[in-house]
Amino acid sequence: MIAKVIVDISASDVDRVFDYNTIDGVEKGSRVNVPFGNRDIEGYVIDFAETTDVPPEKLKSISGVIDDRPIISEEQLKLCDYMTARFHLRKVDVLRLLLPSKMRGGRIKSLEKNIVYISPEYIDEDVTLFIKKSAASQMSVYEYVREVESAEQSYLNANYSAAAVRNLINRGVFCVRKETVLRKPYAGVVQKDDAVTLTDAQNSAVQAIMTNDRPTLLFGVTGSGKTEVYLDCIRKTLERGKTAVMLVPEISLTPQVMRVFRSRFGDEVALLHSGLSDGERYDEWRRLLRGEAHVAVGARSAIFAPLTDIGLIIIDEEHDGSYVSESNPRYVTREVALFRASYYGAKVVMGSATPSMESYRCAVTGEYAIAKLPERINKRQMPEIEIVNMCNEVSYGNSGMFSAKLVNALDECLKAGNQAILFLNRRGYSSYVMCKKCGYVAKCEDCDVSLVYHKEEDVLKCHYCQRRYKNLDVCPECKSSHIRQGFMGTERIAEAVKALFPSARVIRMDNDTTRTKDAHLRLLGEFANGNADILVGTQMVAKGHDFSNVTLVGIVDADMSLHFSDYRAVERTFQLITQVAGRAGRESKAGRVILQTYSPSHYVYRYAKEYDYVGFYEKEINLLQTTKFPPFSVILRILISSENEGMALDATQEATISVREIAACNPEAFIYLNAMRAPKKRIQSKYRMQVLMRIAPARDDIISLVYKVADNVIAHYPHVTCFTEINPNDLS
Ligand code: ADP
Ligand code: ZN
Ligand code: ZN
Repeated sequence: MIAKVIVDISASDVDRVFDYNTIDGVEKGSRVNVPFGNRDIEGYVIDFAETTDVPPEKLKSISGVIDDRPIISEEQLKLCDYMTARFHLRKVDVLRLLLPSKMRGGRIKSLEKNIVYISPEYIDEDVTLFIKKSAASQMSVYEYVREVESAEQSYLNANYSAAAVRNLINRGVFCVRKETVLRKPYAGVVQKDDAVTLTDAQNSAVQAIMTNDRPTLLFGVTGSGKTEVYLDCIRKTLERGKTAVMLVPEISLTPQVMRVFRSRFGDEVALLHSGLSDGERYDEWRRLLRGEAHVAVGARSAIFAPLTDIGLIIIDEEHDGSYVSESNPRYVTREVALFRASYYGAKVVMGSATPSMESYRCAVTGEYAIAKLPERINKRQMPEIEIVNMCNEVSYGNSGMFSAKLVNALDECLKAGNQAILFLNRRGYSSYVMCKKCGYVAKCEDCDVSLVYHKEEDVLKCHYCQRRYKNLDVCPECKSSHIRQGFMGTERIAEAVKALFPSARVIRMDNDTTRTKDAHLRLLGEFANGNADILVGTQMVAKGHDFSNVTLVGIVDADMSLHFSDYRAVERTFQLITQVAGRAGRESKAGRVILQTYSPSHYVYRYAKEYDYVGFYEKEINLLQTTKFPPFSVILRILISSENEGMALDATQEATISVREIAACNPEAFIYLNAMRAPKKRIQSKYRMQVLMRIAPARDDIISLVYKVADNVIAHYPHVTCFTEINPNDLS
């Protein structure tokens, strides 16, 4: 029998299937060692065949099987085929997504511990024969072990006398075995079933989700109790003997989410996210693989959880940008979820208070079913959003970051002993250019997206068409010279607030302060416990958290995401405001939101203030239809990079010629096509160029042709990196 093996090396010319003679114990999905060149490397058996084209003298045999069972299921192998075709990925890269990264190459070992037992010959013996009455510490540890049958030696050493333990081991009363133990994150949380009684709205949502044959969009305002809906669906799924996957955005993996799942489902749940140690991740993954846990909860990559017989897939906060992976391998989580669900006949639910335009449109067209939770639990009011025009502040001579209204509100909030969140809307990379006097923002005349300031050339550029514009020193609208470029950071905000309120305790949360593994949870925990009065933060404070004492949310610079050079900028702004406003007044205390903007008349604020998602959707989807941006088109980009500029140029030229030929044969499918240097022209000493396209929707035939163009580039230019992105979040 011949085994078809994908070898685990990254060089792009070996993304092929290699033939080996199989050996005993090898199954489809097994991880194996195979001879490759003059060494042994890891590989995955994806299939078997009767015959091979490899001549017998060249055919080698698998050297060994690595794990005690296959680690990739039949369904995951099909998923791998699907993803290679759909997202134009190499098989080995997809297979790697399916495994904890450090597991490959044996870089994580199982955790072994010394486990203490009572030696068989001492179990029924009269204890007074071998432990003297005076040896009280020996007696107590002996009795504990007899009671529990086995215990970790380190636990005994810490809780009893280490000397007594050693004495009993030396005398043979205790025996010690090395055993594998599983590392369990949040093991300290006790399981208790504190299930609430669902409201009628929650019950109908559960009912709909569990009976719909289509995916269900769970459209529920912030604080409407979506989590309880998910929990109940998971419970029902487990009762049916099936497994469940729940995805949450990385940054909303709050301690609350963990605790709720552990306390409701105990060891049935495995947690998969980047905050875990490699060992913990590996052990949680193995519990799923072996069927010891049936629910996987985690960020994007948890969609690859090694579960079979999946009955339910939940994507919480489905609009969140983190569900699209931005670096290789690039994939769209929702599409992976839909593939796995359709293989197993699983229910799919996508939840949000602010669904993406794309998903809500699917609900409108009937591709998805919709379930609604239109009210907050206990009919709590949504906090009122007050809009402050920052241009006026400039005219009053206040050029600081906080409006008079926000300063007063902070003062009142602190005096009443409540907590406040100051939110800074800082996302991504780009710096737009704005007039602080009248709120004018420089935009591309062709694309209607904000221009990006490029410091090194001192020009403004459009990232969708590369048109260049002169930088501004006076505002073309009001002739003011109060032109602002770029950001203000959380650090400056925190300093400013400390200067205003010296006795307030301030916590700052952003990428800088949350680098370490537990920092994120620790900072949130401190705030939740009342150890701080004001939390200053970026996106990561926006969602998922349930702080009972927060009565004020200040959105310091709401416009930041509005002017990103991204066709989804307005949508993202709406989502962020709604999410962050949802943090205020969650318990009985009324909440207040103060939103500072230089564009107070922008329609996004009108709809956000009224919490009118549907109104906003209708306005926005019309605009997208007019300007032909997704979902009314697909943005495709072939990104070519190389340390050799000439080669990158040649490759880009060749790709452009081929794409132009495709466009010439299918003129109706192309809305836009051009080739140029990428906005970030050089990264890590590689020159970057791109072929940028917008094509008509539902033209997978064109996408496949474009993939072939990229394949040809890869084949002809060995020193060039080339990949294709679909609707990338970031066009830099
Ligand atoms: P969402 O995810 O929709 O913003 P949450 O799931 O965080 O809302 O729920 C908001 C609050 O309401 C939480 O504190 C939750 O414990 C509580 N809650 C949810 N469902 C119920 C219920 N049926 N009865 C009482 N409290 C509930
Ligand atoms: Zn102006
Ligand atoms: Zn443009």
